[in-house]
Amino acid sequence: MQIFTNIAEIQEWCKAQKREGKTIGLVPTMGYLHQGHLALVRAARQACDIVVVSIFVNPIQFGVGEDFEDYPRDLTKDSQVLEQERADAVFAPSIKEMYPTGYNSFVEVLGEISSKLCAKSRPTHFRGVTTVVSKLFNICLPDKAFFGQKDAQQVMIIEKIVRELNFPLSIVRVPIVREEDGLALSSRNVYLDADKRKQALVLSKSLQAARELIKSGERNVDRVKALLTDTIKTSPDANIDYAEIYDAADLSELDVIKGQVLIALAVKFGTTRLIDNLLVEV
Ligand code: AMP
Repeated sequence: MQIFTNIAEIQEWCKAQKREGKTIGLVPTMGYLHQGHLALVRAARQACDIVVVSIFVNPIQFGVGEDFEDYPRDLTKDSQVLEQERADAVFAPSIKEMYPTGYNSFVEVLGEISSKLCAKSRPTHFRGVTTVVSKLFNICLPDKAFFGQKDAQQVMIIEKIVRELNFPLSIVRVPIVREEDGLALSSRNVYLDADKRKQALVLSKSLQAARELIKSGERNVDRVKALLTDTIKTSPDANIDYAEIYDAADLSELDVIKGQVLIALAVKFGTTRLIDNLLVEV
């Protein structure tokens, strides 16, 4: 497995792979890899000849006062894990390599999809994500890029830039990987102490409860949302950022549950903000 830190070098290497007729699968990550990330790597391994994993804690997707400095990092361990997963290349650039002095180009999606959920609570976040992902697409030249359904709004926004900016690649969505007790895997789970880790189970529990209510025939969005918030509030330290239900195609508003809906949560436990979501089809 090759480890690259230089943009020109990995881009040349990817071009050479493509000249040999090989397909490239890209898995963008911020590192501190867990089984959720590895599900993406395995999907890429299955689907493509060459697997490239990027590891970059992207400063421009963190807002002021967020956890950029504290975000967990372990490139040595990540590289070992990726070697075992038979990744072909890791791209782990420095901030200077990605954003040299004077850097001023950004990719931004406007409209409804970029005005709610995480976009509302983290106003500069998706501009950072779409910019870095666009750069990674141009650097690594993937045929397919793999993203987790864990970050549902993120993958929707990335599908939109691929469509609207005509990136010549396809996006593959990978389902959420959870712990046995239901907690969605996240690099940020390391911030939780034992008590908050236990309290954090209300995210998946409330999603399941909402699904059951819908399955039992409830179609009123407000009543399902009320169940979500009531369930989350059973955890004394849970501070709800949002608990929403939108059309899963474009995040448009719904009064009545119909078609495929996205139930999306962001909840803070102390300073740790966790997200989770569920797609429900009626
Ligand atoms: P991150 O390192 O948090 O930026 O995540 C990198 C990629 O892994 C994103 O596409 C995430 O959606 C995906 N991912 C993170 N956690 C999970 C999970 N529990 N299940 C599936 N995909 C995940």
